[in-house]
Amino acid sequence: MKKLISILGSTGSIGSNTFKIIDKKKNNFKIYLLAANKNFNMICNQIKKYNPNIFVINDKKIYKKVHDKFKKKKIKILNNYNLLNLQKISDITISAIPGIAGLEPTILFTKKSRKILIANKESIICGWDLIKKAATKNKTAIIPIDSEHYSILNLLKDHTLDEIKKIYITASGGPFLNIKKKYLKKIKPADALKHPKWKMGKKISIDSSTLMNKILELIEAQKLFNISNKKIDILIHPDSLVHAIIEFQNGLVKFMYHDNSMIIPLANAIFNKNINIDKFYKNKKQNFLDKIVKGLKFRKVKKEIFPLIVLKKKVQEYPSTPIIINAANEILVDHFLNKKLQFLRINKIIMSVLNDRNYKKYAIRKPKNINHIIEIDKWARETAKKYVL
Ligand code: NDP
Repeated sequence: MKKLISILGSTGSIGSNTFKIIDKKKNNFKIYLLAANKNFNMICNQIKKYNPNIFVINDKKIYKKVHDKFKKKKIKILNNYNLLNLQKISDITISAIPGIAGLEPTILFTKKSRKILIANKESIICGWDLIKKAATKNKTAIIPIDSEHYSILNLLKDHTLDEIKKIYITASGGPFLNIKKKYLKKIKPADALKHPKWKMGKKISIDSSTLMNKILELIEAQKLFNISNKKIDILIHPDSLVHAIIEFQNGLVKFMYHDNSMIIPLANAIFNKNINIDKFYKNKKQNFLDKIVKGLKFRKVKKEIFPLIVLKKKVQEYPSTPIIINAANEILVDHFLNKKLQFLRINKIIMSVLNDRNYKKYAIRKPKNINHIIEIDKWARETAKKYVL
């Protein structure tokens, strides 16, 4: 029987990589639901090519345009998750809408899917307790596919938490790893979007350039694997080939190495059994041996280039500190991309939000539902905007 698959964020980088895998095994899958925002051409192409049962389109204007274009077709086109009455349980859902916008659909699909592959780290950072509760209740398997977390998941197989001495997640260092500090204030969005190793969406690319992506991933790992702050750290590894390293109490160290393509964690998580990766992904440049003979290099994070590294000490300060960091960052990245904020002010304003007189009032809250999360998120966004002006 064909597996039902749903993709939240189908027109993005993770969505496109997922289709590259599905296209190679067309007979194994039926696309049930797709969700996207405003890429009209890609949305229309995906409807024609994959014939999904449902398409949820967030942007109102694009929703209307697509709805009109396909009104004679059987497909259900929606603008709102509230109207969504999911009749079927998806076998696999890919959660890849960036930012807090991904949280509501992720929780919804945690109740309506057998397995969720989560790329949307912001959902885990802000709503892990809700996702975990729904997943446990509905027996839904949650598989993180951020390469670092997919690596940790695999490295921890057959180990218990108390065997861990330290986990290191690696960061490529992004486009400014070797830049002189004095040039940082001149950085433009186009410079920050040029990631040397990964081809990704805009939000995560900017986060990689500031190191915020790694701070968010550190929180993501703490939540997913129940790891204390003392037991996890960040290491720069410019080649992005080793994704996570675990030092065990018994003196053994394991690390996970794979080429820097999201196809690898995605395909392994989708099929969950021995696969031949060559069917989905061809490394045309160099093989494993050439790369390790050249040497795997690591270095410590330099605070003068990545001032956000100080957040590492802050992330577990209060229960909702991660929600506040994430929300403030989303607003600031948006302002930077729209050329309304200088690059270095991203860091400064995040610090201002964390030092704001109302910070503790919101940060100490333990959200019990999605509305509580949205309230804290809203405060952080408004506060960040106040400091932008
Ligand atoms: P992209 O920006 O490439 O794609 C985002 C996707 O989400 C698009 O399909 C976009 O639609 C859709 N979208 C955006 N906002 C909404 C919304 N409000 N409602 C519905 N759909 C929406 O992002 P990426 O694929 O790079 O990243 C997705 C997530 O995965 C992020 O959380 C990121 O941190 C994480 N991730 C990504 C990796 C990567 O290699 N790209 C690696 C690891 C994690 P449209 O195109 O129509 O606007």
